[in-house]
This record gives sequence, C-alpha cells and structure tokens, in this order.
Amino acid sequence: MTARPHDQALLDRAKTRIPGGVNSPVRAFRAVGGVPVFVSRAEGAYLYDQAGRGFVDYVGSWGPMILGHAHPEVLAAIHAAVDRGTSYGAPTEQEITFAEAIGALYPAIEMMRAVSSGTEATMAAARAARGFTKRDGIIKAEGCYHGHADLFLVKAGSGLATFGNVDSAGVPAGAAADTAVVPFNDLPAMERALAERPVAAVFLEPVVGNMGCVPPAPGYLAGVRALCDKHGTLFVMDEVMTGCRVHKGGAQALYGVRPDLVTLGKIVGGGLPLAAYGGRRDVMEVISPVGPVYQAGTLSGNPVAVAAGLATLARLDDALYAKLESFGARLQAGLEAILREKSVPGVVQRVGSMFTLFFTEKKAVHSWDDAKGCDTARFGRFHAAMLDADIYLPPSQFEAAFISGAHGDAELDRTLSAARNAIGA
Ligand code: PMP
Repeated sequence: MTARPHDQALLDRAKTRIPGGVNSPVRAFRAVGGVPVFVSRAEGAYLYDQAGRGFVDYVGSWGPMILGHAHPEVLAAIHAAVDRGTSYGAPTEQEITFAEAIGALYPAIEMMRAVSSGTEATMAAARAARGFTKRDGIIKAEGCYHGHADLFLVKAGSGLATFGNVDSAGVPAGAAADTAVVPFNDLPAMERALAERPVAAVFLEPVVGNMGCVPPAPGYLAGVRALCDKHGTLFVMDEVMTGCRVHKGGAQALYGVRPDLVTLGKIVGGGLPLAAYGGRRDVMEVISPVGPVYQAGTLSGNPVAVAAGLATLARLDDALYAKLESFGARLQAGLEAILREKSVPGVVQRVGSMFTLFFTEKKAVHSWDDAKGCDTARFGRFHAAMLDADIYLPPSQFEAAFISGAHGDAELDRTLSAARNAIGA
C-alpha cells in the first residue's frame, strides 16, 4: 500500500478541531478503512492531493460535477458573478431565469423555491406537504436518504410499517413518530403503510443512490403514483441526486412518472450551495408569503451559486448524456467481465452515469435487505487497492459512483486495468 504520510498528518491535525477530521461523516473513510485524501484542487476528471498526485474521480463531489471539475464556462460564470458582489438578500432576475430553466426541464415544477442544500429542500418539501394536506404522516423507503432533518432520520422497525424509530441520537422520538419506513420496491408494503394512517407525503429517491445504485423495479414508481392518488397523499420525488443525472429531466422524465413535489440539489447548483424544491402550483402556494407555511434563507438564491447553476444547466445537452451513457456502458461491461474472469461474486448496477459494484452473491440488489448482505470487507479491500492505483471511488459499498463528461478513454483504461488487479487481489 502506498503510504500517504501528508494525508495522515492532515487527518491527525483535523481531528483535534473537527469531529472525525471531516465536515461530513462519509469523508472520513470509516466504511472502508484507510486515510482520506485531502484535496488541494480538482480539474476535469481528476482530484489532486497536496503532493500533486492525481486521482481519477468517481465521486464528483457526491454528484454535482457532471461536467467535470473546474469546467471553464462554469468558472467564467462564477468569476463574472463574484465581480457583481456575492450576496444581496434581495431578489434578482437570475433567480427567475433559474426557476424558468428548472421549470422547462421539469414540467412537474410549476413553482419552486431556491434553498442552499438538499437537506433544506427535503425538509421544506415535507413542511409544504404537511401544510397543504393538513396531515402529519410521512412515508420513506429503507435505504433512501433525504438529508439530515429530524423527520427523515428514522429507521424501519420490526413491523413492515412501524412508525417512529429514531436513527440518530439527538432526534426526539416525537420528531420521528410520524415517519413510517417501508422497503424500497415493495408496493404491497407501501399500500399497507398508506392505509395505516393519513399520510401527507411519500418521499422516494426514484433511483436510489444512498444504498448504492438501486433502480426502481418496472412499474414501481407508477404504482406509488397510483397509490398516492388513491389516498390523497403527495408523491415527492427526491431528485437531489438523480436530477439532471439519470436524464436531463431527472428520473421523472426517464420513467415517465409525474410527482407532486420535487427536490433538486447537487447538479442544479453547479458545485455551489444551491438546491430547490418545487412542484404543483396549488401546493407551492402554501409557502410564505403567499400561504401559511414558513420557509426562508439568508443565502437562498445566492447570486454566485445561481450563476454556477445556470452555467451548468446550459451545458446539459444530448451529446453529454450520450457520452455518459457510452462511458457507463463500457465501464459496466468491463467490470462485469473482470468479476467473471476472477470468479468473484458481484453485480454492477447502473442507470446512466451513476453506478455501484456490489460484492454480493445475489443476481441483483433491489432493496436495503439485499444491499446490507454485501461483502463490505471485500469492498474495503477493493477500495484501498483502487485508491493505490489512483482511482478515487466512493468510500462505502453503499454510495453510488458518478461519471462526468470529462471522463474519457484514458480514464476508462486506467480504471479497468486497476480494477483487474484490485478485484483479483
Ligand atoms: N437527498 C438525496 C437523495 C441525497 O442524495 C442527499 C445528499 N447526498 C440529500 C438529499 C441531502 O443533500 P445535502 O447533502 O445537500 O443536504
């Protein structure tokens, strides 16, 4: 294993001032072992550490960097915005342009609010749904992540639709008491949970990224749509990760299912803190100052972030998605061939440019029950060997990897030759 003494020194220093040395837990590499790379800059498909060593990056800042790092047009837009001042706390024309651009890509988003993180977007969408329906119940699926607001940090109980088991210290039982957790891809369980009590909203990642990449079973999203209609419940698609990722118009365009509310983040913010929630006009009109549901933000619609988002949206053309699909298909086929060649049990699940190599005996991973049985120790060894070969994968079996438009043949070849050694070892 290549020693990275500078990263170890930085981690030791970081740990004295920042919990675990990191500002978001998965960055600490606890799930795979080893020392995180402290990044000094990024460009195209590469992250660079302080010593100038480059890594082919399949994390892409956890999703936003679909154009690759430091894209010249995005940087130019940011530079130009900075020169006009960095925050006004007053409305701008660019925010309207942004909401119009989002509405053009996502017909379900008739009105939207800009916020600064995915967590804020989902939290606000839940409040809007509760305010609109005058119900408290929320349903989420096991293995889906919707940010760290109290009402989503809830885990499944022993029953199929048990309400209210907190999944983090510091979450009061009351904040979790109205959230039910059902297995992903399980329509009968969804139906039971919806029948159990009045539910304001069902939240789903339409393609799950937060247990590794798990696509919806055929008919699942349409089935959830129909059940929500039957019960007067709002269907919220959390497309913070999948929005503009699996398709320009998100999973809702890819699978042809229209949600009532949508949350977006990551790509739409072009790598700056910008996210959004929106959807049906009648629902969004509950938001203050039009309606009684309060939601606000000092930096909401920040002009620099909006400039980065608009510059990114402007680059999302068919050629980009064709390129991502082609790279993704070749990477998937290459990894599957290596698994067979080395007789290592595993599957590669992919939707466009998001994918996961699961080390499992199963033919497919459909739910958290399937995912949690994966060989995480083997994934940890694989991750370490790939990092040694300068390939930067998400540091957990349960996180999707991302391809950018800056990934090309050279990166594909390097990745597959590293994987041949790492999977064989
Ligand atoms: N929803 C989904 C589907 C996510 O993947 C994430 C973040 N990974 C969030 C919400 C929360 O977003 P943020 O980290 O920007 O708060």
